[in-house]
Amino acid sequence: MLPWLIIGGGLHGTYLSLVLTKGCSMEAKQVRVLDAEAEPLAQWFHRTANTGMTHLRSPIVHHIDLEPGSLKKFSRNWRQDKCCIAPYARPSLAMFNAHCREVIERNGLAELRIQGTARHIEIAGNHVCVETNQGAVRARRVVLAMGSTPPSVPVWAERLSAADAQIHHLFDEEFKGADLATSGTTLVIGGGISGAQFASYMVERGAEQVVVLARSQPRVHQFDADPGWLGPKYMGRFNRYDPPARRPLITAARHKGSMPGDVFRRLRHHLRQERVTWLQGEVRHASTNAGRIMVQCGQGLIVADRLVLATGFIPTVPGKPFLQDMHRQAGLTLAPCGFPITDRFLRWHSRVFVTGGLGELTLGPVARNIAGARRAANLIKQLVRPT
Ligand SMILES: Cc1cc2nc3c(=O)[nH]c(=O)nc-3n(C[C@H](O)[C@H](O)[C@H](O)COP(=O)(O)OP(=O)(O)OC[C@H]3O[C@@H](n4cnc5c(N)ncnc54)[C@H](O)[C@@H]3O)c2cc1C
Repeated sequence: MLPWLIIGGGLHGTYLSLVLTKGCSMEAKQVRVLDAEAEPLAQWFHRTANTGMTHLRSPIVHHIDLEPGSLKKFSRNWRQDKCCIAPYARPSLAMFNAHCREVIERNGLAELRIQGTARHIEIAGNHVCVETNQGAVRARRVVLAMGSTPPSVPVWAERLSAADAQIHHLFDEEFKGADLATSGTTLVIGGGISGAQFASYMVERGAEQVVVLARSQPRVHQFDADPGWLGPKYMGRFNRYDPPARRPLITAARHKGSMPGDVFRRLRHHLRQERVTWLQGEVRHASTNAGRIMVQCGQGLIVADRLVLATGFIPTVPGKPFLQDMHRQAGLTLAPCGFPITDRFLRWHSRVFVTGGLGELTLGPVARNIAGARRAANLIKQLVRPT
């Protein structure tokens, strides 16, 4: 019987495994992280590489080590690229990733992993039983850290994909932005931070022509939610609402589809050079003709050689089938938006905790971010008894 099992070894699950083993002095054998991926943070590395982003949106104090100053210290010996950019000292992606790998290596976090996929979770009398594709794992406590939902693909794009058109989603597991051909026209659908970063990245890789089709003109916000959400400024009021009533506050707080100033300036440079064309509109009709993709929008017809969706993730609850199952089976409470209603320590049941996006109704709009991972682990830590 394992004392702790974390389901999902992305940024959130991996950081929590560090806090439990090193921050709470648990023995390594007491914590395991179940994940289908072989490597910790695999999805993070893959997705961020695909966008062509150069720096993080979050500041240098948000990282996956225990010491708040750890990444800053690491940056002193960083020579590969500009370690941070203003404002708010945001780290380079290359340096942030190197630091993550160093933290994982130094703390033996890869050794805590069980490679497998959870299929069913059952709360038994004195433990939780997780059925996986590798057999059953029993644990005293389970943390749900399943992270993000699948990439969001519009129906018209699914139809064209089935017809063998060159359609990719930036966050598809098999998509590799660095391998995409640069000849002819690349059409990017979506004008948020990832669409803007990818359009710039393609130009810098030598793409002939890049067209971005977006619902609005570029919208600039430094962060995806105001930094006031990291502390009592906004969280005080948030906590006074009943958890189900917190959803509209979270939705209103997020600057969805926005980008920070540096991403905008990089894009604007390419717009001025006429290497990127920004069209505002919606896809009205899409078809293929002789291997090319024809997209009709309010601005006219776009003919492209390939199409890349930067349309984010399906707006649903991560791990939804598991949650609904546990709700039916053990009566655990879900809000009308489908997210778990936990106590203030992210405890959904005496044996089940959540972190990451699943903790949104407790952690607020920053739950999915690195800052959310740090807050979540610090809350869960308060309930860990010394062994
Ligand atoms: C391109 C991009 C850039 C971002 N930039 C920033 C930034 O600058 N700053 C910031 O704070 N945040 C940023 N974020 C947001 C956030 O920090 C990341 O999305 C973060 O990686 C989320 O981590 P996670 O662990 O919740 O999810 P994931 O990385 O998706 O990990 C979840 C893991 O759970 C596993 N899993 C799922 N279901 C099961 C199952 N049934 N059984 C076993 N394992 C399972 C998956 O295999 C996966 O490895 C960014 C996000 C993206 C996409």
